[in-house]
Amino acid sequence: MAEVVLTKVVKKFGDFTAVKGIDLTVEDGKFTVLVGPSGCGKTTTLRMIAGLEEVTSGEIRIGERVVNNVPPKDRDIAMVFQNYALYPHMDVYNNMAFGLKLRKISKDEIQRRVNQAAALLGIENKLKSKPRELSGGQRQRVAVGRAIVRDPKVFLFDEPLSNLDAKLRVQMRTELEQLHHRLKTTTIYVTHDQVEAMTLGDRIAVMRDGVIHQYDSPKQTYDHPADRFVAGFIGSPAMNFLPATVTSEDGKVFVVGDGFRFPLPAEKASGVPNKVVVGIRPEDLDGPITDENADGTLEATVTVTEQLGSELLVYAACGNEAIVANLDPHHVIHIDDKIRLKVDLNRMHLFDPESDKTIF
Ligand code: ATP
Repeated sequence: MAEVVLTKVVKKFGDFTAVKGIDLTVEDGKFTVLVGPSGCGKTTTLRMIAGLEEVTSGEIRIGERVVNNVPPKDRDIAMVFQNYALYPHMDVYNNMAFGLKLRKISKDEIQRRVNQAAALLGIENKLKSKPRELSGGQRQRVAVGRAIVRDPKVFLFDEPLSNLDAKLRVQMRTELEQLHHRLKTTTIYVTHDQVEAMTLGDRIAVMRDGVIHQYDSPKQTYDHPADRFVAGFIGSPAMNFLPATVTSEDGKVFVVGDGFRFPLPAEKASGVPNKVVVGIRPEDLDGPITDENADGTLEATVTVTEQLGSELLVYAACGNEAIVANLDPHHVIHIDDKIRLKVDLNRMHLFDPESDKTIF
């Protein structure tokens, strides 16, 4: 196992800069997820670590070794791709054994490693099957098995679950979690799916336009997003954003917008600019309530409701802004209802509309 350290890594394709000088340290044995919208540079970053893409400038280190000029086969990494890339004419055993044979590992050792990986992944009875005879989930397991038998220092995963249906994705996700728990191999995993990022990663790097906006634990990223982009990307449904003005009345500070007026405790109010964007997660809204004088409420008109059994998503208009609330599913709420929702003010965020940075 080894740590992976990227220092000021840049990747240019002609005039276009896909990765803009990122720093990233993946500690030994940890699971880091690169997450972000399409085109943000996460696959390019992973491919540079794998050696499949040249680094324009900056340094990549795996363990003690700077690997910028080391060919992929000598980096001691194993990569699992979205399309599995299995050899169609080989059975499962040989798909898993192929890389080891190339490395001239003894037959007995190959057999031991393949059998061990197959048992770990529950595909012992498929070793003689061809890839076309396997389900999507089984093919994915073979691709992971092929990486495991190499016993690499680092696993690199590029959207490995995106070809699977929703149920299988969840199952494979938990299997990958268990696998990492057992093997404790340093892992870097690319996905655009924030749920995968939150559930799998020890730390997640949220990327946009070739830049890492935040690199933190999932909980920290959710509770304390560094900026409005991260706040809106992590969490589902996404955080609500409402423009507001900060005003003082009788020595008290309020955040005021269309349909709401929230008190701001003095310790949070200092240094806050006049114009702000309020961020409220759907799960930090509660109600509806009837007390018009309650502190920290907002008024909204319901546009759509989605009863999901375990939760009730209520889409509504708060002034001119669209919001969504995740409410107790026992409430009966109809389209066009005017409702008053209670905001958990301790969990409310403010963003600077100029820089999009988090104020708190
Ligand atoms: P996705 O989730 O869609 O795969 P991504 O975050 O992995 O997105 P990358 O594949 O890393 O994004 O691409 C980052 C940017 O670099 C994109 O704008 C892409 O068009 C560009 N890019 C990637 N590879 C090349 C290439 N070989 N030549 C030119 N531009 C490229």
